[in-house]
Amino acid sequence: MSVSLTGQVALVTGASSGLGLGIAHALAEAGAAVGINYNAHAEPAEQAAAEIIALGGRARALKGDVSHEPDAIALVDAMVREWGALDILVANSGLQQDAPVAEMTLAQWDKVIAVNLTGQFLCAREAIRQFRKQGRRGVSKAAGKILCMSSVHEVIPWAGHVNYAASKGGVGMMMRTLAQEVASDGIRVNGIAPGAIRTAINKAETEGEAAERLLRLIPYGRIGEAADVAKAATWLVSDESDYVVGTTLFIDGGMALYPEFRGNG
Ligand code: NAD
Repeated sequence: MSVSLTGQVALVTGASSGLGLGIAHALAEAGAAVGINYNAHAEPAEQAAAEIIALGGRARALKGDVSHEPDAIALVDAMVREWGALDILVANSGLQQDAPVAEMTLAQWDKVIAVNLTGQFLCAREAIRQFRKQGRRGVSKAAGKILCMSSVHEVIPWAGHVNYAASKGGVGMMMRTLAQEVASDGIRVNGIAPGAIRTAINKAETEGEAAERLLRLIPYGRIGEAADVAKAATWLVSDESDYVVGTTLFIDGGMALYPEFRGNG
């Protein structure tokens, strides 16, 4: 099976680091023109775009805060201005602001919901508007594909992270509702729920003694790498997964399988 995205145009949000950066490179390698969204750090996004272009691909770094409505609108507009269309959105931007519930401020709650959930809603809405406007354009069986970055905390409660877990639970239901609403337009919406993947968001938990503790929660026995997610994401936005609609694909080494019950509970 070879995955080709030749002629397609993809926007990846939060792509200046971690999973988004890996996905942007993978989509470009499969032949897509890629908009590499960043919010704060231009340099890694510009560098990724330069690397893709040096290899003969098409890419552009695009600044924008996904939780700010005018920015989400401008991001999709910029894709259409640059490449004439949008075929794929990977709504990946996300952050954590952790605190025990009694100490969590409203600002911490609001920020995480704004970026992780509202940001995905805004970008998905703009992508759907564009997909409907352009219709099927002969580069993919679908009229558009959206991939929502969720987390195992879509289903696993996470003490000390109620804002993050609530945002990812919301992403799961938003994704399924959007999938139901727009499938008849030929638009496929799916999600990915990573477990523990080595990136900046969880540096403290994936190194040293903390990594040993983390491994006890992963039946498959290793911490994930960005490439594990990038390969699955590329497949999920390609025609190879054309009949997959409204599904969350867990990429977690079995983390969501209640590993505490391995020894008969
Ligand atoms: P990361 O911190 O490297 O990436 C998050 C990206 O989102 C960063 O590039 C950041 O700049 C961007 N971002 C933050 N606020 C933004 C905003 N307002 N507008 C635009 N971009 C913004 O961490 P990551 O691990 O690559 O996380 C990517 C996604 O994967 C997140 O949604 C995260 O919740 C999810 N996730 C990661 C893991 C993991 O183990 N790494 C597990 C489950 C889910």
